[in-house]
Amino acid sequence: MKITQIQLEHEIFANCYLLVDEATNQAAIVDPGWYGDIIKDVLAKKNINLHYILLTHGHFDHVSGVYGLQKDTGAAVVIHNCDREHLLDPKKSLAEGNFPEPHQPVSADIIVEDGDIIMLGETEIKVMSTPGHTNGSVCYIVEKDRVIFSGDTLFCMTAGRTDFFDGSEEKMINSLKKLVALDGDYRVLPGHNRETTLERERTRNWYIRRMVK
Ligand SMILES: [Zn+2]
Ligand SMILES: [Zn+2]
Repeated sequence: MKITQIQLEHEIFANCYLLVDEATNQAAIVDPGWYGDIIKDVLAKKNINLHYILLTHGHFDHVSGVYGLQKDTGAAVVIHNCDREHLLDPKKSLAEGNFPEPHQPVSADIIVEDGDIIMLGETEIKVMSTPGHTNGSVCYIVEKDRVIFSGDTLFCMTAGRTDFFDGSEEKMINSLKKLVALDGDYRVLPGHNRETTLERERTRNWYIRRMVK
């Protein structure tokens, strides 16, 4: 699978990733925080066949581009049940008051839970439920490529905030325990800031060192 990070229009938006299963040219986008010229250009230039919009959770900086992207491509919107209403409600997505143009409501097409598998062509994408930042936060794991899309759960050297209305520090600690307990090393592609590895975070992440062990 080929992974490309798409640098969106503004830094407030989350890290957005394009996944292409090379055998079939089927593609998915993780966390389109904005749907503007940059994503449109990438899709047009690469002649992308977009199948899924994979959401790590329902905050506006990850989902504000979903409406336009879904409308233009017909890709299926994938989110955990506990965050599906965030897509309909700018109060729940935190868009209202934080962002000048609250996103248009959009319905989820595929509701996922822990252990679900999404097939992108020949690539298996596994869903791991990792509540804490929001109740419906998930990580997407591609075993074949040893990569985790960790959303706002695990960051380089820290973890996501747990003080929003549906956040929970206790759940975050349990979710990080699940990630740390995975076998071996993985590339970790987080929702913000730079890429890291699971092994580096096991040993050096201050939140994990203080809270999890
Ligand atoms: Zn975020
Ligand atoms: Zn968030």
